[in-house]
Amino acid sequence: MSEGIGELLPPERLMLTPGPSCVDPRVYRAMAAPIVGHMDPWFTAMMDDVQVLMRRVFQTRNRVTFPISASGSGGIEAAVANALESGDECIVCVNGAFSERMAIIAERIPAKVIRVEAPYGRTVDPQDVVRAGKGKKIKFVGLTHGETSSGIVQRIEDYRKAADELGALLIVDTVATLGGVPLDVDGQRIDICFSGAQKAISAPPGMAPITVNERVEKYMETRKEPVRSWYFDLHPAMTYWGKDRLYHHTPPITLIYGMREALRLVLEEGLEARWERHALCQQALIAGLEAMNLEMLVKNAAERLITVTAVNIPSGLNEKTARKQLLDEFNIEIAGGLGPLAGKIWRIGLMGYSCQTWNVLRFLASLEKVLLDQGLRVPTGAGVGAAIHAFREAMQPAGAGARK
Ligand SMILES: *Cc1c(COP(=O)(O)O)cnc(C)c1O
Repeated sequence: MSEGIGELLPPERLMLTPGPSCVDPRVYRAMAAPIVGHMDPWFTAMMDDVQVLMRRVFQTRNRVTFPISASGSGGIEAAVANALESGDECIVCVNGAFSERMAIIAERIPAKVIRVEAPYGRTVDPQDVVRAGKGKKIKFVGLTHGETSSGIVQRIEDYRKAADELGALLIVDTVATLGGVPLDVDGQRIDICFSGAQKAISAPPGMAPITVNERVEKYMETRKEPVRSWYFDLHPAMTYWGKDRLYHHTPPITLIYGMREALRLVLEEGLEARWERHALCQQALIAGLEAMNLEMLVKNAAERLITVTAVNIPSGLNEKTARKQLLDEFNIEIAGGLGPLAGKIWRIGLMGYSCQTWNVLRFLASLEKVLLDQGLRVPTGAGVGAAIHAFREAMQPAGAGARK
């Protein structure tokens, strides 16, 4: 009996968190389609479509490209486990909670992990990577492209160079960046690249797109030791996602439908247009926040992660109460800080379908009320006004600015 437990009716939230982001109605519609068997020829043909789309979004020709049946953390697990054998040595650039997670996963292989660190909110110095690995046999350099926990982005090219100097593979976590921030897997020569479904791709959580180049494929064939994880071993997984289509595990059919439509949406918009949309919305968001006297955690604008903005919490503010009010009164969810930044920052995600001009304005207006209710002094309408100005500056056709 289900007495007392009503029909499932989730509230309609605006998720401005570092994931999950809001989901386009077209993706929901795709997910309402009937389930078919995972060995059904119709389904296995549809898997080809998903892989074609995913290669375009990653900008790669890699054969091994498919969604892993796991959240973004499963992507880390797969990348690391397939690249390492026990006792191997690797370098992980650690400057936040997710890069730390990569280091922990590598240690459990068990591998020798050299952490090259920077404080949260700062980028890791690629020269430190080279220094740490000199004279050692480094299997890979692990990089978190966008460190969601502190809102910074790192230049992949610099770490590619460092990995080349060490003769190491480059593994890049693009969970927070794929579909929102410029990324070119082949052009940037990333050996293993993975992402997550629920961030700038705006598919539902539960899948981790991954792509692996030929160099890694070759290595996988010559490994002496089996991959430590059965589930995340990419070789048998590719007998299913490769041309043989042999059973490995039952994939989340519905999530794959959703992924297909979400990737179609990304490519319909165009990668460059999408990156620009994300950059513009963040510019306007920051203009608005600064006009309300809030400060960014990351001072160097070039190092700010476009998809997740880290804002210092003003003194005298109860940040939990503020977030609760945003949720209860305005149906908007933002995130607090992780680890050493808990209670110190907010993280505002503008990703995928959540990243829209109207959502930026709605958030800034709502935040103004919340700050005023907590007794902070905020110039009336300053946040929304500054954001509108930023949007107008960027969107006006050339020569149309005469009546400013
Ligand atoms: C969110 C995130 C992850 C973890 O993804 P889950 O889907 O929560 O497992 C890993 N890395 C980065 C950079 C992320 O932003």
